Amino acid sequence: MADYDLAIIGGGLNGVSLARDAAGRGLRVILLEQGDLGGAASSATPRLIHGDLSILERRGFWRVRRALAERRIWLRIAPHLVRPMRFVIPAHSDERPPWLLRAGLYVYDGLTGRGGLPPSATLDITHHPVGNALKRPFGTAFDYSDCVVDDSRLVVLTALDAAEHGAAIRTGARCVRADRTDTWRLAVVDRGHRRTVTTRALANATGGWTSMVADTVLRQPQSAMAAMQMSQIIVPRLFDSDNVYVFQNSDGRLIFASPFEREFTLIGTVTHDFTGDPAIVAMRGADVSYLCDAASRYFRERVAPTDVVRAVSGVNLTPVSARRDGTTLFHARRRKAPLLTMFGGDVTTSRLRAERAVTKLTPFYPMSRPWTAGAALPGGDFAWDRFDTEVDLARDRWRFLGEPEAQRLVAAYGSRLPAVLGEAKTRDELGPAFGPELTGAEVRYLMAQEWARFPEDILWRRSKLGLTMPAADRDALAAFMAGVNDSSRTS
Ligand SMILES: Cc1cc2nc3c(=O)[nH]c(=O)nc-3n(C[C@H](O)[C@H](O)[C@H](O)COP(=O)(O)OP(=O)(O)OC[C@H]3O[C@@H](n4cnc5c(N)ncnc54)[C@H](O)[C@@H]3O)c2cc1C
Repeated sequence: MADYDLAIIGGGLNGVSLARDAAGRGLRVILLEQGDLGGAASSATPRLIHGDLSILERRGFWRVRRALAERRIWLRIAPHLVRPMRFVIPAHSDERPPWLLRAGLYVYDGLTGRGGLPPSATLDITHHPVGNALKRPFGTAFDYSDCVVDDSRLVVLTALDAAEHGAAIRTGARCVRADRTDTWRLAVVDRGHRRTVTTRALANATGGWTSMVADTVLRQPQSAMAAMQMSQIIVPRLFDSDNVYVFQNSDGRLIFASPFEREFTLIGTVTHDFTGDPAIVAMRGADVSYLCDAASRYFRERVAPTDVVRAVSGVNLTPVSARRDGTTLFHARRRKAPLLTMFGGDVTTSRLRAERAVTKLTPFYPMSRPWTAGAALPGGDFAWDRFDTEVDLARDRWRFLGEPEAQRLVAAYGSRLPAVLGEAKTRDELGPAFGPELTGAEVRYLMAQEWARFPEDILWRRSKLGLTMPAADRDALAAFMAGVNDSSRTS
């Protein structure tokens, strides 16, 4: 008998979503990720949970409605990771006329359905705080509701939920060969050790590597796909308000500027074709300038390439008929074990795509019904409009926490925060400090529960503390993690 019912190659959002869905439906699941969870395109997304106005503009009403339904689900199951915000579109005389924006948002409100977030509104921004950061000529803006999400924590907590439903999650485990008969036999280099895994079905969820893995690892070539790169920049904070600005750039594209980790602003996105190794993806200078110029057109404060503190890029594939929904291919034949291939798509619809993909395996295995829409991710068992209350409760319980720190911790761990901070009465009880916020207790939790192995796993994916941590503290963190690894090996 095969070791597993489903093996998944790739620990990005697509892979972990498949793992969560399948494990909760009773399949024996293993997920193999060559590096860290969410280490590639899934931590370089626009971080939006939305219906997407650009799809609405292309009259994709059904897709927008479905994405907005998913937005409601995310708010319910991940209220710590997903934050509702007011998105502001200033009306620019050279761009889409105000009546068109107003009409579009009216349709967007209608597609949201009842019981959603507050509807859109027209703002006179000459007298409204959201106008303070903008250049003078803007008199009118429209604001509407959508959500932002911590993309890389979404990946990690989805993997954690998969594990809690029985999935084996292996990071640092590269699949180097897969032989297909009526089952799959995989050769895996797992933290330096070669091992064999057998499985009844296989999913290739390797994002930008999908074609390469199909050709060289699975030896099941698939039709040509285009690789695309998406990039964004992070700059020091451009505005104080808790809004996402949506700008219509002079070429008609919509550009987002969102608050990012209190002291920064994320500006994106720019996409173009990509060739090369997805592991070595860097943002082009021209793309950085494009986003800086787009932001400078609207914000009072000029944004220059020298202001960029970090550029984030990811690669994924799109089929020739580029669909934002992403793609799931399913292949099974007599005496040939099933192969699922899932790539691309957006964060908003990732849960639904995984649910549909796993459902394709129902002719092969008995499995229970879809479940992920109704079950909170780890730490997400509270109502989204109680986020501030959860922060207040955390500050009552751990009195040494400042407001911003408590917000970060509740956003990251939700109701699981006691597992991180325990009964500590003072900060000193949490062990050594790395920078102003990260403590030994949090590092130990992330290593024990969330597969963190290296400082980057913590500083860039389980948090974004890498943006502010001084170099000396990073070195101390690396030494501390090495010590924890050594002691867990010897104990
Ligand atoms: C052009 C483009 C446009 C996008 N547009 C949007 C958008 O509009 N909205 C939005 O929300 N998001 C968007 N995204 C982001 C997109 O949602 C992500 O790509 C998404 O998170 C899906 O990622 P994934 O899991 O398919 O791939 P990834 O996150 O890249 O994960 C693939 C994983 O497979 C692993 N892997 C590869 N080979 C092996 C192997 N042999 N063994 C083990 N592991 C392996 C890699 O290490 C990697 O971690 C866009 C991305 C791109 C590139």
